Amino acid sequence: MTDIQQPSCFVHFDKALCHGHASCIRACPTKAIRMVDKRTVSVVGQCIGCGECIRVCDAGAVSAAAAEARKFGRDHVAIALVSPVLYAQFPGVMPKDILMGLRQMGFRHTIDMSYFLEIFHYATEEFINRNRESNKAPWPLISPVCPVVVRLIAFQFPSLMPHVLPVLRPAALMAREVKQRIIPYYQESGETVALYYINPCPTKMDPNCSNPDQQPEISEIALGINDIFPELSRQVEKIKDSDAIPFDQTRFEYETCATGNASMWAMSGGEIAEMDFDRSLAVSGLEETIAYLHKIEMGLFKDIEYIEFRTCREGCLGGVLAAIDKYLAKSAVQKMVKLYGLGRRLTRENILRLYEKGHFQTEKSPAKLIELYGTKKEALSLESLQEIEKTMELLRGTDCAACGAPDCRTFAEDIARGTASLQNCLWISAHSTIKIKRKKGKSTMTVNDLMERFGLQVVAGDTGLDRQVEDGYCGDLLSEIMGNAPEGCVWLTIQGHQNIVAVAVLRNMAAIIVTGGQTPDDETLEKANQEGIPILLWPDSAYQLAGRLFAMGVGKTD
Ligand code: SF4
Ligand code: SF4
Repeated sequence: MTDIQQPSCFVHFDKALCHGHASCIRACPTKAIRMVDKRTVSVVGQCIGCGECIRVCDAGAVSAAAAEARKFGRDHVAIALVSPVLYAQFPGVMPKDILMGLRQMGFRHTIDMSYFLEIFHYATEEFINRNRESNKAPWPLISPVCPVVVRLIAFQFPSLMPHVLPVLRPAALMAREVKQRIIPYYQESGETVALYYINPCPTKMDPNCSNPDQQPEISEIALGINDIFPELSRQVEKIKDSDAIPFDQTRFEYETCATGNASMWAMSGGEIAEMDFDRSLAVSGLEETIAYLHKIEMGLFKDIEYIEFRTCREGCLGGVLAAIDKYLAKSAVQKMVKLYGLGRRLTRENILRLYEKGHFQTEKSPAKLIELYGTKKEALSLESLQEIEKTMELLRGTDCAACGAPDCRTFAEDIARGTASLQNCLWISAHSTIKIKRKKGKSTMTVNDLMERFGLQVVAGDTGLDRQVEDGYCGDLLSEIMGNAPEGCVWLTIQGHQNIVAVAVLRNMAAIIVTGGQTPDDETLEKANQEGIPILLWPDSAYQLAGRLFAMGVGKTD
């Protein structure tokens, strides 16, 4: 049973399995996850599909939004687009046997990425060489290959989007080629075709979210490597035991087997290993990626031409949907490279002719990419920032996540944005009686007395009508009220949001009077009933009522 309020297209949360440990909430780099009612997970922010929530959940309650493994190609032509990470999952097995295994599973075509990785290499080198001469590019350029990195930039580092290399990713080049050359061949004879992306990361699991150039008439389905691994292993074992099944690699040139160069792409550093320039870096792991993006934003690394980022540690072979341990996979890659070397098959001249025609450049501007890959972090107003600072003074700062937010600062931001209430903090709700140093005579006036005297309408919290009224306070800025309102006061405000109840509880107020003919939200009334805080309505201005209250002695010091 999935219980998620704003669906992420990359991950699913299963309420039935969730233990409420909040590990996913703390791990999420965009602070997108909140927990309400102990086990209802809600993705309230921008999910970039990094899969960290899947990685850290011991209960198995988070999974990738992948298609279910099934029989392929029964009623359609199934085409597998194969990530180099797949080869690394089978130490000691020849890539051709793995592709053959996929065909035995029902895939009519198995498209290896080597061809497109080489095209990407040439196009990247050409772009860098030309820009080195003209010195036009914003250095360092950032690899566009890992979509999580591009989404992270769109969300948290939008000023770095112009650094993203404007060359189409190998996966996009591959999908385009298949759509232009293989699919029309079958469509002419009326056959249905589906593309299956076999890959190790949840960020590619929903092509609707991952591929802005998707054609609706073609089914594009993502499969996690770990999903097909058991069946593929069985097929590979059969093939290893038999040499009777020849591998037909002549249908299309990109159905040939992987090169050592392509295998390298599975691990961190594989993208830049064979590139024709020296000033490049490879960074892997989510924390490292964020740290280095901060450094680039600060103006560091301008002498570096190209940075390969992978948010998964050790590279894509550390993707959460990979099937075997990342270090075993890395060792398998190293052996493959030793066997096949790092040579290229394609010639630079042919690729350059297409480069001149703009065949490999992306047409998406940095602004368009930000729009496609996610909303950037919403800025807070100065007033909200002040409110956050005031709230932070009230919180313990232990980042316990018991409120459902990943840390105290994010919780304070949620309050300022109006999506959380101070009472969600367990510590505050347990210590909500705050002593205010303000001496005055003990009042005998109750909220009920005020109600009768001024004909105020009680709309919630009538169990608290016998509270004593010690003082009065006017104001609408919650942070200011939280800092200054006296204990036992009646608070006059035009605010109707549920946070007013939390503030009233925090300051141990006698009652809230909503003035100016305003009406509180339903949630506010419900909260006030729960807390026993009376809410009364006054149709005219706070100024008029405050004058009358003061005249009858409310707020006068001895
Ligand atoms: S996939 Fe990443 S960004 Fe999305 S909710 Fe999980 S941890 Fe957050
Ligand atoms: S590093 Fe590779 S596997 Fe991990 S999210 Fe990026 S592209 Fe996917």
